[in-house]
Amino acid sequence: MKEEEQVGKDRPTVAVYLCRCDGEISQHVDLEEVAERISLLPDVRVAGVHDTLCSDDGRKFMKENRGKDNSDRVIIGACSPEILDSPLTHDLIEVGVNKYLVNQVDLREQCAWVHSDKERATSKAAALTRGAIQKALKQEPLEDMIFPVIGAALIVGAREPGQAAAKRIASSGFKAYIVDDANAAVDYDVSQGTTIAGPAEGTHPPSLSDSRLEEDVTLFLRSAIETMEGGVGKWTVRVRTPEGMKCLDVGTIIMTVQPLSRASDEKKEPATAAPTDYTRRILHMLHVGRGEDMTIRRLTKRHLPDLNRGIFVLESSMGLEGAVPAIEDAISAADVSIAIMRKGTMSIPRIIARVEEYRCRGCGKCAEVCEYDAVSLVERDGGIRVAHIDASRCEGCGLCRVACCNGSMALLGYTITQLLANMMGIAEEMSV
Ligand code: SF4
Ligand code: SF4
Repeated sequence: MKEEEQVGKDRPTVAVYLCRCDGEISQHVDLEEVAERISLLPDVRVAGVHDTLCSDDGRKFMKENRGKDNSDRVIIGACSPEILDSPLTHDLIEVGVNKYLVNQVDLREQCAWVHSDKERATSKAAALTRGAIQKALKQEPLEDMIFPVIGAALIVGAREPGQAAAKRIASSGFKAYIVDDANAAVDYDVSQGTTIAGPAEGTHPPSLSDSRLEEDVTLFLRSAIETMEGGVGKWTVRVRTPEGMKCLDVGTIIMTVQPLSRASDEKKEPATAAPTDYTRRILHMLHVGRGEDMTIRRLTKRHLPDLNRGIFVLESSMGLEGAVPAIEDAISAADVSIAIMRKGTMSIPRIIARVEEYRCRGCGKCAEVCEYDAVSLVERDGGIRVAHIDASRCEGCGLCRVACCNGSMALLGYTITQLLANMMGIAEEMSV
């Protein structure tokens, strides 16, 4: 560790933790050399290397080191941020680090797995790490946004997983609405592994044995979702039912929709996971992230509530894994929903667009490209039109910033200044 006087008291300081990923990274990248090179930078207070940062031991190592070095910015050099970011960031929050000052550099997918020349992979790893350090030094601490959450859940799909989720939610004292365009609910006895066709007509409670639960679960069969408006924690859902349009106010949403291939169908090929047009339309209204192959991000314990915004789309309901995993996933989603509704609020990362109004000329190009309907044009004094961001809908994708030819849009956490610092850091290291 460096001496305190070397970095000065008022300057931001950086701690860097590099992960060998149990050899996955370290056999292709010389992490000790990376640590040595970046520890020469004046703002880096500590540069440590660990075998597996995501292990209990690794997480303890990072937390304990943070306690000693007290740097306000942290760089983690490990696997893809998509995989690891959240749990480690939450560990650092616990020891007093602002999560917006934590940056994760991908040294595995972007270095170790794609380069056979260890020397060059090491140089690239050092450059990416140095770029992240320079960006971190330009960042400011931010706070999450807090949104109130309505204590009711929408469950799309009246098959076994949907019913399991509804029962779970209702037994916790919250209202659950199940919507399905099918004619019948299907009851699934997990203990017996059997399926029993449920009642077929109209709008009525599902076949739940506990009468108290019946009050808290409303089942809409032969019904379809027409619109979903709102954002984090507060959705207004219009449902076309045989009895006419119904309007539901819900705070969390669980989708369990596709036909399921059952465990007992082991001889058959599993059903394909292509979403129906109806599913696609709902996903579009919810703006759920999908991969290029149209598969949907799976709910896992790693995807914490603040990342899925109270919306759960269960991949297992797409027919690849059978009914029992789907039910388990639905119950997991219900449990997270219950936790959110009990808390009554949801924290959402503040990586969103921000309009520099003094530069905006109200052309609306940003609103045209925003797939999340997060931008509208509003009038300010004197009738001047400017872009306005709905923070509850903005996903921080950055499209509006690219579309704005006036430089009026900024993305918090990824400002031009920060990105330039990132590139400068990479270039400086490559020129060493
Ligand atoms: S594209 Fe830029 S200038 Fe045009 S309305 Fe949006 S923020 Fe304003
Ligand atoms: S960052 Fe993406 S989601 Fe947010 S307002 Fe811009 S285009 Fe829309």
